[in-house]
Amino acid sequence: MERTRREVDDRVRELLAPLLDARPSPLQWRLVGWDAEQGISLTLERGDRVLLIELEARDDERDCHARTARFNVCARLAFREGEPLGDGERRAVEQLVAMVRSREGRLPEPPRAAAASGSEVREIEVDRLLIPEGNGHYYLNPYVGCMIGCAFCYAAERVDLSRGLEGLAPRPWGRFVDVKINAADVLRREVRAHRPGIVRISPIITDPYQPLERRYAITRQCLEVLRDGGFTPVILTRAALVLRDLDLLASFPIAAVGFSVPTDDDRVRAQFEPGADPIAARIDALARCHAAGLRTFAAIQPALPMDPARLVAQIAPLVRAVRIDRMYALPRALPLYEAAGCPEAATPEFFAATASVLREGFAARGVTLDGPDDLAGALGLTGPR
Ligand code: SF4
Repeated sequence: MERTRREVDDRVRELLAPLLDARPSPLQWRLVGWDAEQGISLTLERGDRVLLIELEARDDERDCHARTARFNVCARLAFREGEPLGDGERRAVEQLVAMVRSREGRLPEPPRAAAASGSEVREIEVDRLLIPEGNGHYYLNPYVGCMIGCAFCYAAERVDLSRGLEGLAPRPWGRFVDVKINAADVLRREVRAHRPGIVRISPIITDPYQPLERRYAITRQCLEVLRDGGFTPVILTRAALVLRDLDLLASFPIAAVGFSVPTDDDRVRAQFEPGADPIAARIDALARCHAAGLRTFAAIQPALPMDPARLVAQIAPLVRAVRIDRMYALPRALPLYEAAGCPEAATPEFFAATASVLREGFAARGVTLDGPDDLAGALGLTGPR
């Protein structure tokens, strides 16, 4: 298979040049990291405040902090769930929005080929892999795209924005994967240049143990590099294939593995996540990770139709922490709720009632409920060492 070099970073660099090149930063915030493969995101840091700014494709129907001609701009404080932006933070976002408005015309809009329907696996070479996200935390994605292909996956639009910047043809989510074929080599260089810390694998745009990992073992290679570099991995997956690497994970001083378990009902799972492992396989794998001494957690995300008390009883003995969140892609997911025979669950009221039972049940069993960012804290992991 022919290898391709990822070019999206070069294109977005042109947009962000004043921020990437200026010393000191024109925003008076330190640029900690930036990413261009799930839309465009920037992490800025000042003191102990971490500001996450994300550019998504412009969509006037969606709430956001500000809009430019091409983007919705979203902004929030990382590691401080629900805390509103202060004056200085709002000023930094406004400055960034002004910069994007003045430069977005430089961002290419290459023609895209007509939408393709078949599957595509590309082997790509990347220049960087490890993305710092403040507070001694990092993330990395061994792949872009996910053949598990959940129809509600939040990553679909963001990844399509990034693919559009490279002129790649639109493809249905779940029908393409870019394999970062040189990931381990790049990471080996990066771990020498960064302080050891906590590395999330993978936060959103891929599952690190999707079926292609059997063939390519990119995640496994990255784990070997992280272990040798003294980093702490936090893995989130829907796939029992992680058990293949149990020995490797157990050889870290600390490693965390979590499973997405959005329901206790496998018939619901089969409607919403037909390409993913059955619920029983995930809970069994979670139990084996727990028994192996790993720090284990669960993500009930998005909370699907379920018997919440039963799910608590199944998971609570196996995890230290749990994250609960709602379905964000409701319009796209509505046909799935209808096919599963539970359209009433596609409502904020369903989520509120279900989350309340889950939270009460987990809290009563001593399981920590984490916010969107501080999973590492909930798992008793530390920052840079
Ligand atoms: S497994 Fe995760 S990354 Fe893959 S499609 Fe489903 S939600 Fe998206």
